Amino acid sequence: MDAATAPVCLIWLRQDLRLSDHAPLAHAMKEGWAPILVYLHAPEEEGAWAPGGASQWWLHHALADLSRQSRDHGLPLLLRRVRSTSQQTLTELVGETGAQAVLWHRRYEPAAIARDTLIKDSLRIQGVTVRSFAGFGLGEPATVRNLAGKPFQVFTPFWKNQLKSPVPQLSPIDWSALQAPSISPRSEALEDWGLLPQQPWTGAMEKFWEPTRAGAEARLKQFATGPAPDYKALRDRPDEDGTSRLSPWLHFGQISPREVWHALSDGNGQHAASLAEGVIRQLWWREFALHLLVHFPGTPVEPLRPEFAHFPWRRDEALLTAWQRGRTGYPIVDAGMRQLWSLGWMHNRVRMIAASFLVKHLLQPWQEGALWFWDTLVDADLANNTLGWQWTAGCGADAAPYFRVFNPVLQGKKFDPLGAYVRQWLPEIAALPTDLIHEPWTATDLDWRAAGLQRGQSYPDPIVGLAEGRDRALSAYQKLKNLTTS
Ligand SMILES: Cc1cc2nc3c(=O)[nH]c(=O)nc-3n(C[C@H](O)[C@H](O)[C@H](O)COP(=O)(O)OP(=O)(O)OC[C@H]3O[C@@H](n4cnc5c(N)ncnc54)[C@H](O)[C@@H]3O)c2cc1C
Repeated sequence: MDAATAPVCLIWLRQDLRLSDHAPLAHAMKEGWAPILVYLHAPEEEGAWAPGGASQWWLHHALADLSRQSRDHGLPLLLRRVRSTSQQTLTELVGETGAQAVLWHRRYEPAAIARDTLIKDSLRIQGVTVRSFAGFGLGEPATVRNLAGKPFQVFTPFWKNQLKSPVPQLSPIDWSALQAPSISPRSEALEDWGLLPQQPWTGAMEKFWEPTRAGAEARLKQFATGPAPDYKALRDRPDEDGTSRLSPWLHFGQISPREVWHALSDGNGQHAASLAEGVIRQLWWREFALHLLVHFPGTPVEPLRPEFAHFPWRRDEALLTAWQRGRTGYPIVDAGMRQLWSLGWMHNRVRMIAASFLVKHLLQPWQEGALWFWDTLVDADLANNTLGWQWTAGCGADAAPYFRVFNPVLQGKKFDPLGAYVRQWLPEIAALPTDLIHEPWTATDLDWRAAGLQRGQSYPDPIVGLAEGRDRALSAYQKLKNLTTS
């Protein structure tokens, strides 16, 4: 079949902004179809979960990079801003291109599942071949069941069950088989979508991240040949470069978890013990998060454990704002929140500490924290964010018991022992000695003066006492227990 006669096929890209390990593209090539890549910008269809500011910045660059890559391969990439619905835009594109098939990777967010199901039905009625593929995860997280035929709610049995499944297979692209389409319909200019902020607040992100495929490959290579063997030892240390930091590339699908899985294996699907127990295990946590989101689609806003719907939160705008700005007076929490604001990313250990502080010491609803993360993270991901917040708040699957309250001072001393992380993000107290850096309120006036600083001048005192916050959290939990057992 030559390009002029090859049937056209639309590849609808979403969170799979890559041209490798791509099952829909590989399938099109195998069938001898001429693929046209399509990306539809339809934030309205994401409900409350349209990409936040930081994610939009990343998305812009990921799409610009994908346009360059697809051009190099002679593959058209159509960008379309959806005016009505994606269903209508796809139908129009099928008309414009004469496409006989539409292929995509499955998504797992409730709004996306509902929409994609409708689109599948409507295109099929029009006589178009439609196929969806797994590819956002390592396997197909939607169909996994426990022995009782139910979804898993605890990680370890989920993981053990998954380890029995076959090695995740890649879908390589044979570019020599590409049938380039003879038509090239109109695409829109990415710049017109307004994904980049009007006010230039992304300077630090620009310097820190390379939001391209090449950036993902470079980071993976650096991680695989760098501290990876020490992952288990270093993963909880925010002052070390000890985790992969691949989360934003994984969220936008610029690299697939299967590619990471294979890149870190020995070629026979085996991983060094420290990796198998470390970063690969985290990829299974990601898979578990997807599994939970599919089976408990209300959980981005409702607690998985229903009794937590009655939790006696004490909503307080001022406390929430202090947390968001990194002005709680607890250095490890504030350093994390400043890292988030600056880089659009926060180390996992600090995410846990900062989230715990908000929901326990400050008694603010976890949903508020999840929303803030959603807007500020470059890796904002509905499945992972929901799991992370519900886990911390004690109301989700496999959650930390509510009565286990992280002490931000002890956590800081344990995981940032020299205070390097705090000093990086809180320059206003960087001159304090290490034994005071995680609890600056214990510094005497003499200590402050010796550091060339003045107490209370640029860094706040704690907004709640450690013991007071802990006791309040435990008594709120007791109230909930009394309420739900009476
Ligand atoms: C309150 C809270 C909110 C979170 N929100 C998000 C979010 O919106 N998006 C997001 O990708 N992760 C989220 N996480 C999980 C985790 O913090 C990040 O995935 C991790 O910090 C990313 O860094 P990394 O790529 O260096 O991870 P690595 O340790 O190198 O792990 C490799 C990959 O595994 C996945 N992963 C790692 N830890 C987890 C986890 N606990 N749960 C699910 N997947 C995981 C990520 O895709 C990550 O890139 C959240 C965690 C908490 C406690």
